[in-house]
Amino acid sequence: MSIQIPRGTQDILPGQVEIWQYIENKARDISRRYQYSEIRTPLFEHTELFLRGVGDTTDIVQKEMYTFQDRGGRDLTLRPEGTAGVVRSYVENKMFGLPNQPVKLFYISQMFRYERPQAGRYRQFVQFGVEALGSSDPAMDAEVISLAMNLYKEMGLKSIKLVINSLGDKESRLSHREALIDHFSPRIGEFCSDCQSRLEKNPMRILDCKKDRDHELMKTAPSILEYLNDESAAYFEKLKKYLTDIGVEYTVDSGLVRGLDYYNHTAFEIMSEAEGFGAITTLCGGGRYNGLVEDLGGPETPGIGFGMSIERLISALAAENVELPISRSLDCYFVALGEEAKDYTVKLVQSLRDAGFSADRDYQDRKVKAQFKAADRLNSTFVAVLGDDELKENKISVKNMETGEQTAVGLDTFVQEFKRLQE
Ligand code: ATP
Ligand code: MG
Repeated sequence: MSIQIPRGTQDILPGQVEIWQYIENKARDISRRYQYSEIRTPLFEHTELFLRGVGDTTDIVQKEMYTFQDRGGRDLTLRPEGTAGVVRSYVENKMFGLPNQPVKLFYISQMFRYERPQAGRYRQFVQFGVEALGSSDPAMDAEVISLAMNLYKEMGLKSIKLVINSLGDKESRLSHREALIDHFSPRIGEFCSDCQSRLEKNPMRILDCKKDRDHELMKTAPSILEYLNDESAAYFEKLKKYLTDIGVEYTVDSGLVRGLDYYNHTAFEIMSEAEGFGAITTLCGGGRYNGLVEDLGGPETPGIGFGMSIERLISALAAENVELPISRSLDCYFVALGEEAKDYTVKLVQSLRDAGFSADRDYQDRKVKAQFKAADRLNSTFVAVLGDDELKENKISVKNMETGEQTAVGLDTFVQEFKRLQE
């Protein structure tokens, strides 16, 4: 019996991979324009990092981690998200001491979560994410949000929606926490066991529960926005002003809380509103995490970031029927007639490749007609035909497949003349 791919994973084959490369290039380019530098951290980290960095009341830590012991008995986990590893590296490499602050980083990396696989939900997926560390200016939040929104816009998505909220600072969250406990306590027995344990640990996470989302107490729960202290409210107002100034549209949803424990102030999500996108509409999630660096052993440092999966971006592109400008191009395909000509094309193919062109030839010992068909399938711009007769005359015939124009080119000056044909 043949072995199959593990559940929740996928092969990305030629034909599909060009879409991935296109998106990755776009992500790299926009990161460059916003001045974020790439960081690459290990695929696995000490399990302890995620317990502390993601938080032990989250779904990720409670149900989704790929945790294992290595042969030396160390507890390790395949990273389920990018922020904890980046912040670990930031602290370990003392990036808080770098002359250029804030430190702005991005990553494009595989993540692993043990989830129930479905459309848009994989066990291995790739996130593009950014982290800006060292600034508590709301303009930083606006920059991070606009980077994510502009990537989607530049990819050609139209039906996307930005939702923002403020989770306030510690003080605001504390008074909101009291209000939530008062609100849910009397009827907590009607909620799932997860919510029951969240009540004392982190009652805000009850609002994020997928099982109890339709419970009537959810709709009447006290809004965090009513508990923001003056400073937090002013911060949120500034963010909204900056977003408006740079033309990023948003809606405020006071029910938006992120799954991760370490967020404060700004929280945001970007959703697809495209018809047929399916049940899972969140493309990107992010927010501010001012306590995280300290929790992971660094100096008190504010931070903000987001994570978006490439898989869900690709689904959104498909739902909106966006055609990406991807062409698999071939500059020249060589058709050879006869043994000697075949031998000679080995050199010709090489000479074009050395000169920077893409070139290919037949390796299947195909008849001439089949070689032309291959050139056609590969969408070659030029087809160069070499027969033993031409070889004797030291010439090769090069046909421009777009115009049909045919040129006899000297074999000794082939590359130079081929270059001229491009003009
Ligand atoms: P969800 O509510 O969909 O489970 P989440 O809150 O777990 O999302 P985050 O941890 O904030 O998601 O991750 C950020 C982004 O990563 C999501 O908005 C989504 O684009 C993507 N993502 C999360 N889990 C998966 C997955 N299993 N497969 C593909 N993409 C995912
Ligand atoms: Mg999840």
